Amino acid sequence: MLQSHLERETKQQTNIPLLEIRNLKKYFPITTTLGKTKGFVKSVDGVDFDLYENQTLGLVGESGCGKSTTGRTILRLIEPTDGEAIYQGKNIFQLKGKALKQIRKEFQIVFQDPHSSLDPKMRIGDAVMEPMKIHHIGTKKDRMDRAMELLRKVGIREDQFYRYPHEFSGGQRQRIGLARALAVNPKLVVCDEPVSALDVSIQSQVINLLEEIQEQFQLTYLFISHDLSVVRHMADQICVMYLGQIVERAPTDELFTHPLHPYTQALLSAIPLPNPKLKKERIIIKGEVPSPIDPPSGCVFHTRCSYATALCKNERPQARELAPGHIVSCHLAES
Ligand code: SF4
Repeated sequence: MLQSHLERETKQQTNIPLLEIRNLKKYFPITTTLGKTKGFVKSVDGVDFDLYENQTLGLVGESGCGKSTTGRTILRLIEPTDGEAIYQGKNIFQLKGKALKQIRKEFQIVFQDPHSSLDPKMRIGDAVMEPMKIHHIGTKKDRMDRAMELLRKVGIREDQFYRYPHEFSGGQRQRIGLARALAVNPKLVVCDEPVSALDVSIQSQVINLLEEIQEQFQLTYLFISHDLSVVRHMADQICVMYLGQIVERAPTDELFTHPLHPYTQALLSAIPLPNPKLKKERIIIKGEVPSPIDPPSGCVFHTRCSYATALCKNERPQARELAPGHIVSCHLAES
């Protein structure tokens, strides 16, 4: 525990941001049958964070909070409504053509569902070679050698190279998905709930593999998950999302020892303790998550927060740094 804490501190002090996300917004239009826009689903609404080289940033929150949309927008799988993503001095949201294709090579994704993320009609060797072919990397033999090497690294045998996805288990398919993401030598990998669809016994194997691969390939991860225990294990820093906004971000150990936002406190209180004899008080969040079509005024969490005041209803709290790297959006965070 102490060692991992020291490792995290050292990594944070020495690293520089690989990617800076500023005021990222993604609104999906709601249209009438005649094609007229009558409103927007504010899936991501003004998100800021930095991704540091060779580190893992965890993005957590309930289903529908906008964390997957954030990851996919950064990769330009869906186009942002507003904001900037600064990579090597350029805003990648403005890139087109060849420059955008180059970024697509450096930013890859591992999807949640290993059953649908691979083409069922494509042999797994071809699936791993395909990104290299798209980006014109090496000869056919080079691509085959690299695909075999990557598959070996993720624990798939050479004789399985010509098999189809349905011949593998969920955990193996997720390993193949990871080998495919690594094929073009990326710098950033967005891991979108990479273990949620797997059995618990397989989850830890895939998590260990992700860690080994990160070290070996010097990767930066954006690790999206609703499972705080998994994120605690993986992440150097954590952003907590609620209704399209980041309400708190902090280094992992700091967030777990001093959560300041009432929503984060409630999420942490729901993590089961490994010892059944130990008891802790669970904070129950009342009510349902409001609709992102018409989010609440002021603080988006005020309709469910037991500390809400009149100020919370009327004024959106500004993000404030209350400890080094610990940023909170709550009017009452100091108290
Ligand atoms: Fe609760 Fe107010 Fe803080 Fe929002 S700003 S989390 S409503 S105390």
